[in-house]
Amino acid sequence: MQLNSNIPEGDIQDKWDKHRFELKLVNPANKRKYTIIVVGTGLAGASAASSLAESGYNVKIFCIQDSPRRAHSIAAQGGINAAKNYPNDGDSIWRLFYDTVKGGDFRARESNVYRLAQISNNIIDHCVAQGVPFARDYGGLLANRSFGGAQVSRTFYARGQTGQQLLLGAYSSLSRQIALSKVKIFTRRELLDIVLINDQARGIIVRNLVSGEIESHDAHAVVLASGGYGNVFFLSTNAMNSNVSAAWNAYKKGALFANPCFTQIHPTCIPVHGTSQSKLTLMSESLRNDGRVWVPKDQGETRRPEDIPESERDYYLEEKYPSFGNLVPRDVASRNAKEKCDEGKGVGSTKLAVYLDFQDAIKRDGIDTIKKKYGNLFQMYDQITGEDPYKTPMMIYPAVHYTMGGLWVDYNLMSTIPGLFVTGEANFSDHGANRLGASALMQGLADGYFIIPYTIGGYLASRNFNEINADHQEFKDSKMKTIEKIQTLLKVNGKRTVDDIHKELGKIMWEYCGMARNEEGLNKALNLIPSLRQEFWENIKIPGNESDFNQSLEKAIRLADFLELSELMVHDALLREESCGGHFREEHQTVENEAKRDDENFCHVTAWQYNGRDNKPSNHIEPLFFENVKLSQRSYK
Ligand SMILES: Cc1cc2nc3c(=O)[nH]c(=O)nc-3n(C[C@H](O)[C@H](O)[C@H](O)COP(=O)(O)OP(=O)(O)OC[C@H]3O[C@@H](n4cnc5c(N)ncnc54)[C@H](O)[C@@H]3O)c2cc1C
Repeated sequence: MQLNSNIPEGDIQDKWDKHRFELKLVNPANKRKYTIIVVGTGLAGASAASSLAESGYNVKIFCIQDSPRRAHSIAAQGGINAAKNYPNDGDSIWRLFYDTVKGGDFRARESNVYRLAQISNNIIDHCVAQGVPFARDYGGLLANRSFGGAQVSRTFYARGQTGQQLLLGAYSSLSRQIALSKVKIFTRRELLDIVLINDQARGIIVRNLVSGEIESHDAHAVVLASGGYGNVFFLSTNAMNSNVSAAWNAYKKGALFANPCFTQIHPTCIPVHGTSQSKLTLMSESLRNDGRVWVPKDQGETRRPEDIPESERDYYLEEKYPSFGNLVPRDVASRNAKEKCDEGKGVGSTKLAVYLDFQDAIKRDGIDTIKKKYGNLFQMYDQITGEDPYKTPMMIYPAVHYTMGGLWVDYNLMSTIPGLFVTGEANFSDHGANRLGASALMQGLADGYFIIPYTIGGYLASRNFNEINADHQEFKDSKMKTIEKIQTLLKVNGKRTVDDIHKELGKIMWEYCGMARNEEGLNKALNLIPSLRQEFWENIKIPGNESDFNQSLEKAIRLADFLELSELMVHDALLREESCGGHFREEHQTVENEAKRDDENFCHVTAWQYNGRDNKPSNHIEPLFFENVKLSQRSYK
């Protein structure tokens, strides 16, 4: 298959303008004739749905939660990037573009990243107009702070609740359209299949999570904004019901899945503390603005951190990366934390933690300033661990946080299925092999508010559509297949719970396809996953039935997909014989243990094609060209 990324010709600065001009338009009277399905009400979905409806399309929007406001985006803490250069510290669209390409270890598409940097400024204006209460400085101007991988302050924030505030903004736009009947909302629905008619995406099959009913919904195009799949690791910072099922069903219907092994491990999470835990908590990256990361210089240290003198502390990030210090990108910070723990210098009861210390910042700026900046995060830490971070350093350790992989999309954000668009974390996105902090919210909102409304119009205006509805045979077949799958699952009536098997999968993935990977471990995972999948289909126990509210069934359906995705992730990690960003192959590292890319053989996106249940997927390549940023070994020293 030849992948056509549809990157417009011309200088990088002009591509998006030129493309918008060249895209066909749908006239306002005709927009009323089209219906678009949006799956997901997080920042990517809510922004897309409200913008599409505002411009005249009819929209049907779906989510798992009882309210759009509970989408996982609400959890985002630290902030959103934009190249406004308000602090006058040297930022520009070009610098944001450059930092993002470099931060992603040169595995993202230049044209998309440049567009993202251009649009970043519009997002802030748009959200301010909606009333999003971004932090302001004493004079009333919008304040900024720094995030990893950047030497400028470009992150806009609303204390530690940026995602929530942005989501309330998007939700208010969405609510306006719901009230105008331009958006019809379907909460408590889970997508279980995508319906193609004449090879075009024309609808979806969903399960009503309250009544169990299987419903069919038709449309002229479908937008998937269904979030990331970090929960394949069981333990992650993602919301409990974040899943891969929407993207996975699209993959099985012909959409290619790109770079599935690119997972982000976030360096500052509250460490795992037991075997019955089902969720990990993030401590925002913004804390690294003021917090200093350290471990004791000696192995096996048992004193409390306050009792360890300065001379016996190893501020390893500041030492090793003097230019970026504690604000190195996430992949670099995570790997270094692991290295220190592997050396036996980890702290806490499990020895799998490092300190994040605010004493110097408190002495310098005063406790009130620190409270203002991070109050709610400190409170959250205190509530979870019972330790007061104003007095004693936080303990942190890396955890799964974000997935850079996802459905392959072209410059128009359309997958390889005509009419199936993918936005936000669900697409393989603009972040390459490592996402910089505060760039996911930027990307989701760029996709939804500013890109999709144009590119979907270009698609609709250049196609002829047969009149179809949900009585079409394809809908009936798809519905039947979905019902059969659910009944098969319920009939197993085995002995193991869904969480039990999911935990086992998570352990395999973390151990062999986590922060560090090698050929031997990946091959081991390739043996373990199929047998665990078989165990699932032979020994799963799902209490209750299908025609009721049944969370075990919901989780089992998601796990069935994770058990397939995990194998693809391992294949992808095995094939990519290089280290880049969050994908660290132990065989490929520099003498200083940094990721060693192989640009000659791997400067590309790997996009996987489903070939049926019993066949191996095939891989396709989209070469990446760096014409504006020079390919170089990443350095944060
Ligand atoms: C703890 C935490 C903090 C973060 N902080 C930041 C930050 O400060 N800055 C930043 O830039 N990024 C941050 N991120 C990342 C960022 O929050 C996410 O990448 C982003 O919010 C994803 O948005 P989304 O709209 O793509 O998906 P989501 O917000 O995950 O929304 C997915 C939507 O799809 C729906 N859905 C999913 N599957 C189905 C299905 N099968 N059927 C129907 N509906 C479905 C869900 O119900 C939901 O409405 C953080 C992430 C975490 C975990």
